[in-house]
Parts: sequence; structure tokens; C-alpha cells
Amino acid sequence: MTNIDSTRLIGMFNQVAAALEADKDRLCALDGVIGDADHGIAMELGFSAVRDALAAQDASTLDPTAVFNTAAKSFLNAVGASSGPLYATAFMRAGATVKGKPTLEEADMVAALQAMAKGIQDRGKAEIGEKTMIDAWVPAADAAAATHASGKMLDQCLDAAVEAARQGAEATKAMVAAKGRSARLGDRSLGHMDPGAASAVTVIEAMRQGLATG
Ligand code: ADP
Ligand code: MG
Repeated sequence: MTNIDSTRLIGMFNQVAAALEADKDRLCALDGVIGDADHGIAMELGFSAVRDALAAQDASTLDPTAVFNTAAKSFLNAVGASSGPLYATAFMRAGATVKGKPTLEEADMVAALQAMAKGIQDRGKAEIGEKTMIDAWVPAADAAAATHASGKMLDQCLDAAVEAARQGAEATKAMVAAKGRSARLGDRSLGHMDPGAASAVTVIEAMRQGLATG
């Protein structure tokens, strides 16, 4: 695979924005069950702000770190819900991880995914099993890293990440929420998928599509 340059990274973000636009109503419905029904709106607003901010810049002047930093800033400014600072931190950390690189190798992209998951965890202080987006993001990043360590290509690493995120999101149905708005529901959150974990699957899947080599 050729290295990932800023234009391709911007293409990835555009793909994510389109995917969240398409998934908005389902995510709002999931959030309506155990939250305040705005998660689809928040994610769609956030990623369309990222897309617009990136479109307003000359891609040839941006290195991958600047792409991630632009994403962080525009997502944070656009989103008032808790997902705002969580994803903004994820993008900031991804940018910091690839600092100074004009283009990204496969290993850099895997490291960026891991940095995103770690950033969300550091910012929100959620652990696995607390029914949040962490239940999708952490296993996804771990699966990508393990697949990469076994010598596979990025496409396969991202396939593994998507599969792990799906399983993680599915597993949140059997969890009681311990972080965020839905924690107030206690046992009543049981049986429902966490919206943030559901959207993480959509984000990671669109990242895979946006970066796919063929
Ligand atoms: P809000 O709860 O402010 O309305 P959203 O609806 O955009 O925000 O996002 C809700 C999602 O955010 C939850 O489904 C959960 O996955 C995630 N979330 C909330 N708090 C945390 C946290 N502390 N750490 C990780 N994820 C969290
Ligand atoms: Mg909400």
C-alpha cells in the first residue's frame, strides 16, 4: 500500500461524515432510549463541521497532524454533547502520535487508532464494561494492533477493528451504564445498545472504507 497522505486522510473524514449523516436517525433513536436522543445529531454535526473545515483549507499545506488537529477543533466547536470533547481528544491524540510525518505508513495509522481509543479513555475515564463508546473503541484499537503485529496489511487490521467494535457494541446491551447520562438509569439501561458504542462502529467502518485500497 502507498502511504496515506493528507488528501487521503481528508477523504477518510469525508467518508465518516457521510456515514454519520446516514446513521443520524438510528443513533438518535438509540440515545432516545437511554439518553436524551441527541447523539445522532451531535455526531452528524461534529463530522460535517470537520468535513467543512477541511474543505476550506488547501490540502497541500496540511500535514496529517494538521488534518487531525483541524478535525479536533471543529468537532469540539460544533458539538455541545459529551461526545464533543471525547472525539476532539481522540483526534488531538492521533495528531500528536503522527507528528512530523509528511505521510502515514500503515503502522502510523494503527498507532493513530490506538491513540484515539486511549484519548477517549483518558478524557472520559470510562473502563471497559461501563457501557460507553469505550466498549467499542478499545477492543477495535486492540484488534487493529494485534492484526498489525501478526504481519497483516492495514485493510485487514481495519476489518478486524470493525468486527471487534461490532462485538463490543453488541456487548453493551448486557451492561449497566456506569458513565455519562445513561448512568442515572441504573438497571433500566440493561438490554439496550449504548449509542456511543453504536456510532463508534459507524465511525470505524467508514474510516476503513475511506482508507480502503481496493
Ligand atoms: P450526551 O450524553 O451529552 O447527550 P451524546 O449523546 O453525544 O452526549 O453521547 C452519549 C454517548 O457518549 C454515550 O452513549 C457514551 O457512549 C458516551 N459517553 C458518555 N460519557 C462517557 C465517558 N465518560 N467516557 C466515554 N464515553 C462516554
Ligand atoms: Mg445524548
